[in-house]
Amino acid sequence: MRGVTAVNGVDGIWAVLIRLALILLPVILVLSVLVGRVITKRALQPVKLLSEAVEETHDEKDLTKRIRIDDGDPLITGLADNFNEMFRRLQLSFQNERQFSGDVSHELRTPTAVILAECEYQLSRDELDSEDRESFETIEKQAQSMKQLISQLLEITKMEQNSTEQNFEKEDLSLLVNAVCDDAEALSQKGITLTRDIDENVELPLDIMLMTRLVTNLVSNAYQYGKENGNIKVSLRKEKGRALLSVADDGIGIDKEHQDKIWNRFYRVDKARCREEGCSGLGLAMVKQIALMHGGDVSLQSEIGKGSTFTVDLPME
Ligand code: ATP
Ligand code: MG
Repeated sequence: MRGVTAVNGVDGIWAVLIRLALILLPVILVLSVLVGRVITKRALQPVKLLSEAVEETHDEKDLTKRIRIDDGDPLITGLADNFNEMFRRLQLSFQNERQFSGDVSHELRTPTAVILAECEYQLSRDELDSEDRESFETIEKQAQSMKQLISQLLEITKMEQNSTEQNFEKEDLSLLVNAVCDDAEALSQKGITLTRDIDENVELPLDIMLMTRLVTNLVSNAYQYGKENGNIKVSLRKEKGRALLSVADDGIGIDKEHQDKIWNRFYRVDKARCREEGCSGLGLAMVKQIALMHGGDVSLQSEIGKGSTFTVDLPME
């Protein structure tokens, strides 16, 4: 059999096909991109959960967090189990480290007290010659700073273990900050000028002893690391249900590489300088812990040679 068709007809079919393809191809393309996105999103959902859980544990306080993926790919649930095991071990080692610091400081209290008592006894003796007196005075001075260090370490360990006695009551933070500034100004060194920009009646639930310590540490650091005849600005404002306290100085500043580490216990940027001035490197660790205990946090903006601004962000409820 033979069929005969007009050349014009074939051309027509091709034209229709090309037109159809031009219309359908973009639609198919858009549809496949959309479907692809939905599938990928669904497939990556457990990975997203994992990543969120890991992010939340960046803060030490959240090491108790565990990832739960009820039904999913065995590969992903296996990964989640491994992460959970890692968190458990990390949590345990943090706990052990805290326990160790607590135990050591506790054990060191008695020998330090004995050294101090012996020094006191020796220094009370009239027959002591001047050389021995000088030695005992040096020992007494060092033992005193050791005693202070031990009690600070014990306190910070208790805070981290949540075993500090806490007394939260609604208090006026504005009054507290003003009082700390008054005390700091009275002891003002280096010809530093302190200015204040403090909103009135910033009331929030706080432990007055702990909060006084937080503000005092920040203000005394600003004096200690501020420059001669420099400026410190302390401000406190209410913003969207939060209290924002900031202490800014135009002193030595902190290099980027140290900014994450200064919150760690005993971390000091310039160790030689600190040895002279007898600082322990516990102040900011305490500041951070106290801010966390109040449901807030603390952050730093600093540039070397220009100064630092520490900001404490606290919830008002
Ligand atoms: P202390 O326990 O007596 O407060 P410290 O001042 O050395 O001792 P932190 O207050 O914890 O300890 O501060 C840690 C380190 O951070 C300091 O040694 C210092 O190097 C740096 N630092 C803190 N505050 C400032 C500041 N305002 N400007 C520049 N550096 C600072
Ligand atoms: Mg300090």
